[in-house]
Amino acid sequence: MSKQINVALIGNPNTGKTSVFNALTGLNQKVGNYPGITVEKKEGLCKLPRGVKAHIIDLPGTYSLNASSVDENVVIELLLNKNDKDFPDVAVLISDVENLKRNLLLFTQIKDLKIPTILVINMADRMNRKGISLNIPLLEQRLNTSIALVSTRKNEGIQHLKDLIMDYKELSLKPCLDTSTIDAEYFKNLKNAFPNQDLFKLWLVITQDVNFGNVERQEIDLSQFKTKSHSELKRLQQKETIKRYQFINDVLKEGQTIDASKATGFRAKFDRILTHKVWGYVIFFIILLTIFQAIYDWASVPMDFIDSSFASLSDWIKNTFPPGIFTNLLAEGIVAGIGGIVIFIPQIAFLFLFISVLEESGYMSRVVFLMDRIMRRFGLSGKSVVPLISGTACAIPAIMATRNIENWKERLITILVTPFITCSARLPVYLIIIALVIPKGRFFGLSYQALTLMLLYLIGFGMAVFSAYILNRILKTKSKSFFVIEMPSYKIPLLKNVVITVVEKTRTFIFEAGRIILAISVILWVLASYGPGESFTNAETIVRGENPTLNTIELEDKIAAYKLEHSFIGVIGKTIEPAIKPLGYDWKIGIALVTSFAAREIFIGTLATIYSVGSADAKSGENTIKNKMAAEVYPDGSKVFTFASGISLLLFYAFAMQCMSTLAIVKRETNTWKWPLVQLFGMSSIAYIVALISFQLLK
Ligand code: GDP
Ligand code: MG
Repeated sequence: MSKQINVALIGNPNTGKTSVFNALTGLNQKVGNYPGITVEKKEGLCKLPRGVKAHIIDLPGTYSLNASSVDENVVIELLLNKNDKDFPDVAVLISDVENLKRNLLLFTQIKDLKIPTILVINMADRMNRKGISLNIPLLEQRLNTSIALVSTRKNEGIQHLKDLIMDYKELSLKPCLDTSTIDAEYFKNLKNAFPNQDLFKLWLVITQDVNFGNVERQEIDLSQFKTKSHSELKRLQQKETIKRYQFINDVLKEGQTIDASKATGFRAKFDRILTHKVWGYVIFFIILLTIFQAIYDWASVPMDFIDSSFASLSDWIKNTFPPGIFTNLLAEGIVAGIGGIVIFIPQIAFLFLFISVLEESGYMSRVVFLMDRIMRRFGLSGKSVVPLISGTACAIPAIMATRNIENWKERLITILVTPFITCSARLPVYLIIIALVIPKGRFFGLSYQALTLMLLYLIGFGMAVFSAYILNRILKTKSKSFFVIEMPSYKIPLLKNVVITVVEKTRTFIFEAGRIILAISVILWVLASYGPGESFTNAETIVRGENPTLNTIELEDKIAAYKLEHSFIGVIGKTIEPAIKPLGYDWKIGIALVTSFAAREIFIGTLATIYSVGSADAKSGENTIKNKMAAEVYPDGSKVFTFASGISLLLFYAFAMQCMSTLAIVKRETNTWKWPLVQLFGMSSIAYIVALISFQLLK
């Protein structure tokens, strides 16, 4: 049995690495994270002739091996660490035919690490339009490599690439640049100090700014070799780059001809409009509205369908299987939990459909250009706009959408602040409480109730931006943003890439975040369905005894309410009552706070159960619940829902991290429990303090 060939796809951003990766692996891919950081790791399998398999990694885009960001660091760490299980047998450097010169810089560096390297020149379909012609045999000879001329768009050259990977052992290991020519004396000394080490590798380790976790730093003790200052090293690095470009220029002078007359003005015209000071924003705003409409509105059709299907399935199970614990667990715990996962699929699919089309077409780079200046002040990226706006529908797809932000600090901040944005699950809670405690009057023709709702949206957005600003100050992550924003040419999106993105995002959500959501749903179900002691078990007899005159339906509602009160969740609600009393809440609201952790909108359903507004009254719906809430009084006769406690509750819902699904997706996206816990405790503390202050001031 032959072992798998490890292949690493390396290249500048936007050269088509992911497209080549998709062409090689199809849906045979897995997306994860590098340990501890939010840089995406894509790996997949590719079948080669004669039963050989290649294990392919799609590495983050990098311009050179002189790392200045966490993403680039990932590439260098891998290439410098022979013991890494992913260390490539062969590197495939993806370049795009329009930017060969810049792409080849990275190529020469990889090659000089003496790793067998194949050069892919992608986007061959654009050569004609751009008037580019290449002398491939000559380039192969001068660069000492094999070249695959590829167009993933037309699906050309992929087979040739597979053949080259198959025969990687035949690739030459001859370097492009003799490292010692950078500075003869310095490198002579270095060679003497470390006779067994490769010079270029040593040089890379010496010049990295970033910390290497477990890489060869330990093997190479550099402390005794500090003969150059930081600025001298930087100067040598520049010299290295210049030498490499000289080499590349020489090669391209012979191997590439460009007919300048063919360059078109199409792109420049488009750029002028799309990045225009006024029209640029208008167009972007319209696109955002469309996306928003899709995830908010269009998605509601399949979501309602999913919702009712799972409800019927749950009923069906209850009516079909013998009654008992197991049937209840299945119907109310597991099926409901899975329903709570599946319900997100339409929103996720819609959002990623749009995002991948925006990315693929080249438009997203123009958005970054437009929005970056504004967002950067708050430690966000131009690309944070999309997640922040999508957050008004739901934080789940919004947080998944942050993957497009390359810079990981900006991405992390976006992930952390997105749950402050008012999501659609808060809306029912807001509406009912506003209707309850905000007077109906008008202020300059605007209704107080509408103004309150708008204020709540603004508060959420303001809090997100404000906390981004604070986080940007306190997070100590070294992470550079590109000073130059890449403006790729406009392209019709590749359908294959779009489909793979949508499928892959949905799949990841279901299987990774879904597990956590299901587990918490079942736990919440158990807590609500069981209780300690006699009161819970004998609920039925007790309620019957106390209310001999009620009809069956009313009785059932009362029993449900009584059971919930004496369940574990009821106990939790009563236990936390002293803590939430200063916010103006009683234990019944306490129970609703705990259950709304499954999904905020459950707040209303829980109160309905507690106030025993049963299914019989549900037809008249919120009115009954509202009336019950309005009539709810403390033993001393004072109202539970007053202006003060209502405002306190609104603010609590605005700020609290009260959504297990969001926590699950943050865990999945940041690859650690640290950040979801920071959100849970940080946001909940803010919510608590703000609600406390507002209640104490208003009461
Ligand atoms: P990555 O950033 O290196 O992973 O690049 P992507 O695979 O995301 O591709 C960047 C852009 O180039 C996308 O818009 C692709 O649709 C486009 N693209 C990829 N391969 C080709 C190709 O062969 N021809 C053309 N015309 N466009 C391509
Ligand atoms: Mg990519």
